[in-house]
Amino acid sequence: MIIIDRMELEDVGGDPVKLAQAVLDQIPDNSFPIPVREIASALNIYEIKEENNISFEGALIAPDNKSEGAIIVRGDRSEQRKRFTIGHELGHYLNPWHKSDNPAGFQCTTANLAAEKSDKNNKLMRMEAEANEFSAELLMPYNKIKQFLNSNSGADIDHIIRLAELFEISKEAMARRYALTNFNDPTAVIFSKNKKIRYVKKHDDFPWLNVKHASPIPHNTISSKKNLIIGKVSAWSTASPSAWVDSKPNILIFEQTLAQANGFQITLLTYEVEGDSDDRDDIDLENSWTPKFARGR
Ligand SMILES: [Zn+2]
Repeated sequence: MIIIDRMELEDVGGDPVKLAQAVLDQIPDNSFPIPVREIASALNIYEIKEENNISFEGALIAPDNKSEGAIIVRGDRSEQRKRFTIGHELGHYLNPWHKSDNPAGFQCTTANLAAEKSDKNNKLMRMEAEANEFSAELLMPYNKIKQFLNSNSGADIDHIIRLAELFEISKEAMARRYALTNFNDPTAVIFSKNKKIRYVKKHDDFPWLNVKHASPIPHNTISSKKNLIIGKVSAWSTASPSAWVDSKPNILIFEQTLAQANGFQITLLTYEVEGDSDDRDDIDLENSWTPKFARGR
């Protein structure tokens, strides 16, 4: 049974990532996947109700002092999706600065559940973005992802699939997290539907992409192929750099894709700068050793 001391969370303030980490600090280290429903219950959420035919993904009903509360989630969503929504509502519940203007409490739509830091221009969207940051850190803790990446080198869609299973989260949510947190191998992830780009997530170190929302997947790429088998991760292939990124000399782009049901598709890109390979390191190493050998003779 999970017991969470809310006094310890009160010292943390409103930083969503630190709040999630303070919750994680109080649950057993080997809790996998993160038991978000038990965590909710330990925080005095007395009910998680599933409802259909509602216009939002999730809602939080709680008094102003947030001494207790109830969460509503859409019953017709996958358990992975429900878990992220519950995490999001807990983000509103635990954040001392989050107050809804709606007398019915927070009612969070699909757009709210996709809100990001860049949307923080208004108070409402800032709260939504913070609730998402909280949920992402709670359900996909950065330290745990890092451990996985350190023992599974090289970027691969198979890693995203394994992580999604391990953390019981959707492949899409995990792919977003993967793109932003993979410091070992900077990647870009492209989400598309029916061969049209939905959105892109990339690591800061990955080159700027030249594709945008609603544009078709570039021709002559493995992702543009029509006969992809749903659920099967493609082999890696070398892509023409100009297909995906603003063309730069000496850059190599590698591409892998996964077709999913209903026309959804995930594409993973990695890059390499030509001449920046291990071979050059070997030559540098050789040069640095040569004088010593010469002196020894
Ligand atoms: Zn919300």
